Amino acid sequence: MKIVQSWDDGVVDDARLSGLLRRFHARATFNLNPGLHQQRRSFGWRHGDKDVWRLGRDELATVYAGFEIANHSLTHPNLPDLSTLELEREVRDSRHILQDWFQQPVRGFCYPFGSYNPAVKEAVRAAGHVYARTVAECEPLFPPADPFEFGVSCRFVDPAFWTRYEQAKTFGGVFLFWGHSYELVNEAMWADLEDKIARISADPAAEWASVETLF
Ligand SMILES: [Zn+2]
Repeated sequence: MKIVQSWDDGVVDDARLSGLLRRFHARATFNLNPGLHQQRRSFGWRHGDKDVWRLGRDELATVYAGFEIANHSLTHPNLPDLSTLELEREVRDSRHILQDWFQQPVRGFCYPFGSYNPAVKEAVRAAGHVYARTVAECEPLFPPADPFEFGVSCRFVDPAFWTRYEQAKTFGGVFLFWGHSYELVNEAMWADLEDKIARISADPAAEWASVETLF
């Protein structure tokens, strides 16, 4: 079974997360919005009692070294609301910027807010992506009926995480969990995630993979 993980939004907690993943030789895909990163860390929004900050442009290459980068649009708008021109900018320009920043091909896309329509799907495909991730949970996950409506197994905090994991194993295919590292609001949650990563890395039936390599 291949295990893939997909983390969104490029926040500062990704620095700790990528360090944790490296310790366990886990692969992951990070979905970024290049239009939202300033040179230094910048305040993003509040998540409950927590201030969420975005990573600075100056640290992105270090934080994400060795991981797959996917396009999450330029500025995280609700893509179905946009004009054709705006859509082009959010999808195509964003991909070019990420490829320039990271000097690696960017072929994956992740819909902001999980929202899309036929025009959005076509813009994403035409810009050179090979898949687009939604937030729809489905089993079996792979291969998807439409690679531009690629779903997920569950969120990383899903109470049914291990049940879903074993289900995916029964189907013999792919298990994909996703989330945002800013959701990790205390040490107990970090310990729980570390336990998950460690258990998966120790499972002889599991093999870490990047999303893009599935397609
Ligand atoms: Zn997002």
